[in-house]
Amino acid sequence: MKKFTIFGNPVSHSKSPQMHNAGFKTLGFDGEYSKTHLENGDDIKKVFLEGGFSGANITVPHKEYAYRYADSLDPLAKKIGAVNTYINDDGKIKGYNTDAFGFYKSIEKFEDVNSILILGAGGTAKSIAVILKEKNFDVTVLNRSENSKDFFIGFGCEFYNFDNFPKEKRFDLIVNSTSAGLSDQNYPAPLELLESLIKDSKYAVDCIYGKMTPFLELAKKHFKIYKDGEDMLLFQGVIAFELFTNTKANQKLIQSMREGLKKID
Ligand code: NDP
Repeated sequence: MKKFTIFGNPVSHSKSPQMHNAGFKTLGFDGEYSKTHLENGDDIKKVFLEGGFSGANITVPHKEYAYRYADSLDPLAKKIGAVNTYINDDGKIKGYNTDAFGFYKSIEKFEDVNSILILGAGGTAKSIAVILKEKNFDVTVLNRSENSKDFFIGFGCEFYNFDNFPKEKRFDLIVNSTSAGLSDQNYPAPLELLESLIKDSKYAVDCIYGKMTPFLELAKKHFKIYKDGEDMLLFQGVIAFELFTNTKANQKLIQSMREGLKKID
């Protein structure tokens, strides 16, 4: 039986095991996916190899450690500077970032989207910005601080904070990649600004999943098409699953992973 795990701190809330184990069952793949609480990110390589894992996912706060300790990197992970998937290739670790493509898959069906505003400038914002620039979207980042400004400018994004944001700018899609709304009732940007941007947009996506955040409530109030981060979570998992099992996921498999995700454990 091949062993897989998710590294995080905390990790107890993670729904990745139930999603991947449902996929293994549907595929008839002899695999088992567990949770590993990892205190110190510097230990990730040792724990992964000594644990005999064939593959792993990596969540907060270890994605940059995972990047640092991979023996080789997929080109997208290299650009982003963060890794959320490990593959054990004969004792050598290859690192991937499936968050980026997972996000892209989650908005693929949106029509007439050219300009995208990303709220937040953390790890998730970076993976989203890199894939969206690769797909030739016009990307602007708005964050409360100047953190990582050079990273985004380097990829051809516009970057603003709340004080210098040009208030007349308008976007087809607005993405909340901040943690505002995760365990509080905060908006990711000042309400007046956010409401005017949402009013003139077509779509709103929150990376936070499983709840109606204040950001999504605002999109709903203005009759916009909106979604939370469940599809992003599902698709990053599907892409990792394909790497783990060396298969191409069909609709039946994707549906079983979605159901696994929704299972109350
Ligand atoms: P980071 O900690 O790397 O970044 C958080 C960002 O949010 C920073 O830009 C920070 O600003 C900003 N921020 C935090 N609090 C506030 C606030 N109250 N108001 C405005 N801005 C705020 O987090 P991640 O990028 O790793 O994760 C971000 C979100 O994405 C989380 O909610 C996480 O749950 C979700 N996520 C969802 C995934 C999915 O599959 N659906 C996958 C990964 C993440 P500053 O830079 O100034 O500190």
